Amino acid sequence: MGSGKGSGGDSPVAEIDDKFGVGGGVHDTYGEDSATEDQLVTPWTISVASGYSLLRDPHYNKGLAFTEKERDAHYLCGLLPPAVLSQELQEKKLMINMRNYQVPLQRYMAMMDLQERNERLFYKLLIDNVQELLPVVYTPTVGEACQKYGSIFRRPQGLFISLKEKGKILEVLKNWPEKNIQVIVVTDGERILGLGDLGCQGMGIPVGKLSLYTALGGVRPSACLPITIDVGTNNEKLLNDEFYIGLKQNRATGQEYDDLLEEFMSAVKQNYGEKILVQFEDFANHNAFKLLDKYRTTHLVFNDDIQGTASVVLAGIVSALNLTGGILADHTFLFLGAGEAGTGIADLIALEISKKTDIPVEEARKKFWLVDSKGLLVSSRKESLQHFKQPWAHEHEPIKDLIDVVNAIKPTVLIGTSGVGRQFTKDVIEAMASFNEKPLIMALSNPTSQAECTAEEAYTWTEGRAIFASGSPFDPVEYNGKCFAPGQANNAYIFPGFGLGLIMSGTIRVHDDLLLVASEALASQVSEECYEKGQLFPSFADIRKISAHIAAQVAAKAYDLGLASRLPRPKDLIQFAESCMYSPIYRSYR
Ligand code: NAD
Repeated sequence: MGSGKGSGGDSPVAEIDDKFGVGGGVHDTYGEDSATEDQLVTPWTISVASGYSLLRDPHYNKGLAFTEKERDAHYLCGLLPPAVLSQELQEKKLMINMRNYQVPLQRYMAMMDLQERNERLFYKLLIDNVQELLPVVYTPTVGEACQKYGSIFRRPQGLFISLKEKGKILEVLKNWPEKNIQVIVVTDGERILGLGDLGCQGMGIPVGKLSLYTALGGVRPSACLPITIDVGTNNEKLLNDEFYIGLKQNRATGQEYDDLLEEFMSAVKQNYGEKILVQFEDFANHNAFKLLDKYRTTHLVFNDDIQGTASVVLAGIVSALNLTGGILADHTFLFLGAGEAGTGIADLIALEISKKTDIPVEEARKKFWLVDSKGLLVSSRKESLQHFKQPWAHEHEPIKDLIDVVNAIKPTVLIGTSGVGRQFTKDVIEAMASFNEKPLIMALSNPTSQAECTAEEAYTWTEGRAIFASGSPFDPVEYNGKCFAPGQANNAYIFPGFGLGLIMSGTIRVHDDLLLVASEALASQVSEECYEKGQLFPSFADIRKISAHIAAQVAAKAYDLGLASRLPRPKDLIQFAESCMYSPIYRSYR
């Protein structure tokens, strides 16, 4: 097998990709963790695709970019019109088409069609136009796609595992055509973005997240497996929809749910080995915390809603220190919203403060105040709180309204993770500005309509003194002749590079220290130019470079902690990360 990038030329033989092959060193084709010897395996054949079937194989199809020589050699003559286009020209044409679509969902469908037709062109488009296409293949458009999944559904993507497969999940995993899987993104569809329970239609999320793993982190597409676990849905609208694609029953809970997830996690490890990364995505918070706690010591698991969010927000705050001066431990943090995002962020920042200042984490937590739908978390409420909220319930009188909490606590950092829009009112922001020279305000709730305040409000109500970041993008704001470009705390800054770092080093467990170094790595990529505009995050245009940097730092930490199994440790980890990254450039076929 050749080494890619149009080098010596390859036969379009099924399976086994370029850089992650033996050369890249991240591939474990038939290594120690593929399967145990007594396991049943699917009979697997390797064939050479040609002619009509080659044009219909998205891994190898190049459409009009097949050269005359390739058309001759692979029985394509007559199956294509005469013109031969370069990949660049194909890309240009597709982007013109894409921009002509008025409706975001049409763009999403066009991208999905392309992915099914010509995988390399899909990734080339996504990588070269990442800022424009990220909102198409991921949030916000993917949310609408999930809501309408039943009607736009054409060909199944990913693997569906439902309660019907109980007792045979291992067999179902073996039905997936690719064998060398490195990352699984799995959802049970119970809390899709801010849209609630979408049941089986949540599949759009793992599919979208994994396309970002490839485009932004360079994990090869054939190593990515999207999975939806269907335990039913409590969404009445879907249950009554004759076209609903999932199980028509209420969600299984308790033992039945736990047993299915346990069987899934065991089957995954049995089939793919110790180093398979399982990313939990958009589970409702009661299950999200439970699954992470349960499997973090036995599997390589990562929850992007909890850990990825925490890591990206910590990066933003570390980066803001360049504007506010001082150290993390100088700050007092107030969160509106004490769920997966809020408590996950608070946990990681408290850990960072504890490590940096050598104080116990319990002590560091005293700098954090969280508000949920019932008001400030205080010790008198402790008994009735969910376990993940309890560490944040401090000694204080109960307070219900956010403005009263702000005035009582006088935070320097205000973070919105409630999922409820317009909660950072003029009073709240003005209060922040009255006792902070540069109040740090993060309105993280998505989508844009649910943001706690807009960028314009934050800058205007603080007379241009706020340092602002949000979960959804906002346009730059002009205030008093100065242009402010708000930063977006997008999880896509962290998880692709983080995952690549785990994979390329053969790391077997996620340790919190890996999240801390990922945050530092991201913060270190913010340029002076960004700071001048008030931006806390680097430009997305450089995302592959940023991901390589994060991957290298994560891998380095994993080696230091003895969690990395791929030996010897590469000398230059950034260079190694870059060399492991999937390239979407067409290869030549002999
Ligand atoms: P969640 O359901 O786990 O938590 C929501 C929390 O908000 C709960 O504690 C709830 O009690 C509280 N809450 C609800 N209504 C409230 C109100 N009126 N006042 C005060 N608190 C209230 O949800 P989550 O996963 O933590 O996500 C929360 C929000 O954060 C979502 O909008 C999500 O899109 C956003 N988010 C942003 C990013 C990012 O910017 N990178 C990442 C993850 C989540």
